[in-house]
Amino acid sequence: MGFNPLNWLFGLFALDMGIDLGTANTLVYVRGKGIVLLEPSWVAVDKRTRRPLYVGSEAKRMVGRAPASLQVIRPVRDGVIAEFDITTALLEYLILKAHEQSFVPFPRPRVVVGIPAGVTEVEMRAVYDAALNAGAREVHLIEEPLAAALGSGLPIHDVQGTMIVDIGGGTTEIAVLSMGGVVISRSLRVAGDEMDEAIIQYIRNKYNLLIGPRMAENIKMEIGSAYPLPEERTMQVRGRSLVSGLPQAVEVSSVEIREALARPLETIIETARDLLDEAPPEIVADLMENGVCLAGGGSLLQGLDRRLSEELRLRAWVAEDPVSAVARGAGMVLEDFPTYRRLLIDAERFLG
Ligand code: ADP
Ligand code: MG
Repeated sequence: MGFNPLNWLFGLFALDMGIDLGTANTLVYVRGKGIVLLEPSWVAVDKRTRRPLYVGSEAKRMVGRAPASLQVIRPVRDGVIAEFDITTALLEYLILKAHEQSFVPFPRPRVVVGIPAGVTEVEMRAVYDAALNAGAREVHLIEEPLAAALGSGLPIHDVQGTMIVDIGGGTTEIAVLSMGGVVISRSLRVAGDEMDEAIIQYIRNKYNLLIGPRMAENIKMEIGSAYPLPEERTMQVRGRSLVSGLPQAVEVSSVEIREALARPLETIIETARDLLDEAPPEIVADLMENGVCLAGGGSLLQGLDRRLSEELRLRAWVAEDPVSAVARGAGMVLEDFPTYRRLLIDAERFLG
């Protein structure tokens, strides 16, 4: 890229933004300010024209309630772009909103966007193009496990190995890092959504009661757990009886929900074990000292840290504000670009 006087001018005014384009939540970090936006990654589009009409929390409220003319969708699936134009619209909305908030008239930011480790070049290119189309003047990509580790304060430049487990909505990303790079990683399509689905199935099978995904997520957040709770709890669950077809409420306990979550949790634990199995022994020794850092919204499930500590025989702890770890990590790159730019993905890899 040669010198472009217009971009130079924009650079004087426009923001530097770190963006986490998650399956469940999209977050924006602005250099010098911190996290300024957190929106659910939902967009409501006109079914006929495919034009985006509502974005973020406004759109999420419509899930399961939208009129026939609207379709409410998540344009990011399993961490990668499933709907290009709609993702672009989501990014455009976020860029405009962040600039408006800061009273910056030229929405031509430099952005650092997180992408899952191990995605294809085509998928990287899609994120890059979507951000450019949304108005960014400069786009950089960073692998999410690196960004999450950076945002969680792990010593990623060290030769010492560290491990991060990021449980999002669509995917869980597990990675072992060393010297500012990913040593090995796994991505599995079992995360928060799959837990919600497991709760829906369980309640359907046990009580003949059909509940919606929003209700299932609430149950998970209220009484869901991965380890016996000091005091087990119960909760009223509302849905439609599959027998009478009428509204019905039942009381479920945290013990039952733990049973419901057993399968997805075991899958995550198994994958973490497999990765440890593959890790070089020197790094395993490092991990015995450094432990495993948990990030992403799914890591907020009660007792998950304790469960993983026992199953992996490594100290597992939840990052501070785990939902924003990736966005804060991407933001840290912008706060000190000369130091951290070597963590970014080399654009030649996907621009060819
Ligand atoms: P993504 O990176 O895919 O956008 P996030 O890191 O934002 O995902 O995490 C979203 C997931 O975290 C959702 O499945 C949500 O239900 C789950 N989650 C959020 N808070 C909690 C909680 N307190 N307990 C369990 N799961 C939670
Ligand atoms: Mg995420």
